[in-house]
Amino acid sequence: MTTKKLNIATQAVQAGYEPKNTEPRVPGIIQSTTYKFDTAEQIGDVFDLKDTAHIYSRISNPTVNQLEAKINALEGGKGALALSSGHAAVTLSILNVCSAGDHFVAAKSLYGGTINLFSHTLKKYGITCTFINQDAHLNELNKAVQPNTKLIFAESLSNPGMEVLDFEKFATFAKQNELPFIIDNTFPTPILCRPFEFGANIIIHSTTKFIDGHATSLGGVIVDGGNFNWNNGKYPDFTEPDESYHGVKYYEYFKNNPFVVKARTQLLRDFGPCLSPFNAFLTYHGCQTLALRMERHSENTLSLANWLEKHPKVQWVKYPGLASSAYHELSKKYLPNGASGVLTFGYKGSFEDTKKFINKLKLAKLVVHVGDIRTSVVHPASMTHRQLSEKQLLDINITPNLIRVSVGIEHIDDIRADFEQAL
Ligand SMILES: *Cc1c(COP(=O)(O)O)cnc(C)c1O
Repeated sequence: MTTKKLNIATQAVQAGYEPKNTEPRVPGIIQSTTYKFDTAEQIGDVFDLKDTAHIYSRISNPTVNQLEAKINALEGGKGALALSSGHAAVTLSILNVCSAGDHFVAAKSLYGGTINLFSHTLKKYGITCTFINQDAHLNELNKAVQPNTKLIFAESLSNPGMEVLDFEKFATFAKQNELPFIIDNTFPTPILCRPFEFGANIIIHSTTKFIDGHATSLGGVIVDGGNFNWNNGKYPDFTEPDESYHGVKYYEYFKNNPFVVKARTQLLRDFGPCLSPFNAFLTYHGCQTLALRMERHSENTLSLANWLEKHPKVQWVKYPGLASSAYHELSKKYLPNGASGVLTFGYKGSFEDTKKFINKLKLAKLVVHVGDIRTSVVHPASMTHRQLSEKQLLDINITPNLIRVSVGIEHIDDIRADFEQAL
């Protein structure tokens, strides 16, 4: 199917599977660990990467491939690799480039789990990270780069800060230093933000959030833009023969999408965080309505943000779609069709008062999640970000009274009424 020419909303519905004559309209679930071959020669060719047939579902599976194809089409990428969670996607995207002794630069406004991974866990394996203020001037960003720096990582729309990345500045930063620019595009999804068009080289997602959209399945994906020159002397793992794969040279043999081929054949093979076919099936189905949902999520969130901003019990509201937002101009530039379904606000009261308010909500449920069709709230200081120190929290503007709302696709009148009764 020539999905390239179709509108993104159509691709969300149709890309990834094209039934042949008399085949099922809806793709089935291939819940099989293994695949049968007629001859030893045939399976040998697959092991040599000369043939792309499936051998074993840790490496690839037809149902998982359909989801990969759909998300790849939506992002306009050159290849995708689905994984067991967003965290697996974040982790493998770093480990695919960095080894012990290497360093990378990350914007400091990130998902709490990503901050933990970057500041503690990766360090134990000899990979260090410098966090930068993403709003700083390019000269400041350049100061964070060291001789052993291997990549730049940022979120397009940060969780939970809702800070919009200045893509133009970051693309320049990456180009000047000849570093791959990796974007976590979980919050806007490909429907609202187009990172490859703004200079990103690799896009990752937690598909657990909006892409699945129904809170059924953990999952993650890495999409290769196929637009980075790995042959600049800094990435021998991409240009030199891979000893663990009888001499494959990823950049030379897989010029189109070396990043995902390498991540699949080395890291997925060795670490094993594969997506189950059943989760791939559910995520694929959720993704079909992504364009519709993102439209409603964005519309409802803007409406709730405007209303909360005027409420006397509300100290402040952060949502890039608001005219009052410091990120409004960047939002218009990079998220022209909506600023997604999450807002944060400060409750006028203490840490304890904020918890009391949350307990009064009825329709909006206290759930550690975002991107679900159902409205939910989180109190980061006591929940998702409680492992961070007080200083780390303040550094990323998470105050004790901050509430993150994932606005669902219910009728806005009912969502608003729930907040009104609780406030
Ligand atoms: C949730 C999230 C992750 C981690 O994804 P999981 O699917 O929960 O492992 C990574 N990045 C962002 C921006 C997220 O919101």
